[in-house]
Amino acid sequence: MRQLTRTTHWLTSAIGAHCYWLDAGERVAIIDPGMTAGLNRVARELRAAGRSPYEVTDILLTHYDPDHAAAAAAWQRRTGARTWLGSEDAAILTGAAPVPGTPFRQGMAVLGRPELPGRLHLIEGDVELWPGLVGLHTPGHTPGHHSFRAGDVLFVGDSFQLRDGRPVPPPAFLQTSVRQGRSDVARLAALDVDWYCCGHSDPSRRRR
Ligand SMILES: [Zn+2]
Repeated sequence: MRQLTRTTHWLTSAIGAHCYWLDAGERVAIIDPGMTAGLNRVARELRAAGRSPYEVTDILLTHYDPDHAAAAAAWQRRTGARTWLGSEDAAILTGAAPVPGTPFRQGMAVLGRPELPGRLHLIEGDVELWPGLVGLHTPGHTPGHHSFRAGDVLFVGDSFQLRDGRPVPPPAFLQTSVRQGRSDVARLAALDVDWYCCGHSDPSRRRR
């Protein structure tokens, strides 16, 4: 458990995308719990730091890709936490909406989709999830992708990676809309935050 700010830690033992822990006042959130194989490793990491998975009140999913969201259903069952996911991505997981995007994305979906977690709260557009925690709809990567802002910290999921400290969108074959992805990056890069917590690049302070 690596501390980034007063409120934010990086849970480095998760498998798949990067997983973050947020002490958000009365609430405790994990952002993108990763693959199911990492579940027990993350629980051990928390216990070693004197924390507990049962503190988690909210599971925030930036999007439905399995490297970010596969462990969410099991986490939810164990903790009873609320889960949050963009409504367009939830519709893909239930099969109500077709898998959009490139042939690569279609192929990935054939390999399996994450189980839809319980106590699900759907996120529509830009919205404040609770005081101080804002979901920003950034649909270039997946139709229901959200980035989350908690004060000075921005959790960007797969909206961008950092290259030499600068935000760049993921490769085109991973994007639902390359054009939308570019405008997501421009929008997020304009926000006055101190930290970028990315899904795949290591978290980093924003360059000014
Ligand atoms: Zn992704």
